[in-house]
Amino acid sequence: MRRILMHVGPSVGNYEVLLRMVRDNVGFNSPEFLESMQNSLDGVSLLFGADKSYTQFIIPGGGTSVMEAAATFLQENDRILVASNGVFGDRWREIFRRYRVTVDYVNVVAGESVTGNMISERFGDRRYRMGFFTHVETSTGVRSQVPEIARELRKVSDFVVLDGVASIGGEEAEAAKWGIDYFVTASQKAIGAPPGAGIAVASDRLMESIPDKSLAGYSLNLANWMDPMESYLSGKGKYFATPPVHTILGLSYAIDLIREETMKRRVERHSNVRALLADGINDLGLGILAKDGFRSNTVTGVLTGDLDARGLISECFAHGVEFASGVHPSLAGKYLRIGHMGWVTENDAATAISVLRNAIRSIS
Ligand code: PMP
Repeated sequence: MRRILMHVGPSVGNYEVLLRMVRDNVGFNSPEFLESMQNSLDGVSLLFGADKSYTQFIIPGGGTSVMEAAATFLQENDRILVASNGVFGDRWREIFRRYRVTVDYVNVVAGESVTGNMISERFGDRRYRMGFFTHVETSTGVRSQVPEIARELRKVSDFVVLDGVASIGGEEAEAAKWGIDYFVTASQKAIGAPPGAGIAVASDRLMESIPDKSLAGYSLNLANWMDPMESYLSGKGKYFATPPVHTILGLSYAIDLIREETMKRRVERHSNVRALLADGINDLGLGILAKDGFRSNTVTGVLTGDLDARGLISECFAHGVEFASGVHPSLAGKYLRIGHMGWVTENDAATAISVLRNAIRSIS
């Protein structure tokens, strides 16, 4: 049976993207790879809304790799501030509590978002090297009010960092306009390529501030990736560590398709799908975890009430739609997550609701 993947990444696929990877192996200095890498790096700026004052990175790994690579910009005894809306916001703290820095932290209950006021009231009199937050919190489906949070973080910290792993490619992104110094994502989510690459942009101001005794180790030290990225951008190869060759062949084509669709229309498509799903969930008498006004275009947390969410997910899986389980610890078993990102269509939304309706009937 054909199964639709409406997980939170990888998500709904696209054979055309996958087919670009189905070929005899090519080396990381081959013209095919170099062209794909150059095209991908070029497209990264469009995805993030970055201008020429940003350096683009595409490195092996995924979202967590580019998150941890932020250690490149830190030195011993720095103070950082983490504003968390859930499990992936917490990941910033999980990463940096392993480094010799002080981490201050603010969070909210599942479904809500940290506000600018919370930051100014609690931390207004302190000074940080970096302030971290999350565009779309994948554990709840909450979208941050980025301009507001970025503005408040900038008042207390030298640099502002944003996790766009679940947003880039499906939400409006304006790195330069919003003043984001380091903005990260991964290949497998709303960009719609297979997993394997961590993608980021870093502002010139941030790049110029890399400390001599940076806390980053070796493979995730962005200083080691600067020369290769510059080379790749000019169409030439330079080895530091092996890039995820096939992922980048797919990524390059995904970016071509995004250019053709335009970011504006892509964001509209994601937003339409979100609205259709929300209507359907309402009609089924189920709730949505994210508060109204904070609902993302890419992830919807569905509160399942008296129904066991895990049982519902298994039933839907058996009927052709793969959803993700709820991972926020405060709501275990009480919700499921629909990923609607990448190549998702309105038809997929209709199918998801229909399969959910039948699954509810069969387990009630
Ligand atoms: N941040 C967010 C918001 C995410 O959704 C994810 C992946 N679910 C990550 C970070 C980590 O990305 P990866 O799994 O690619 O390492």
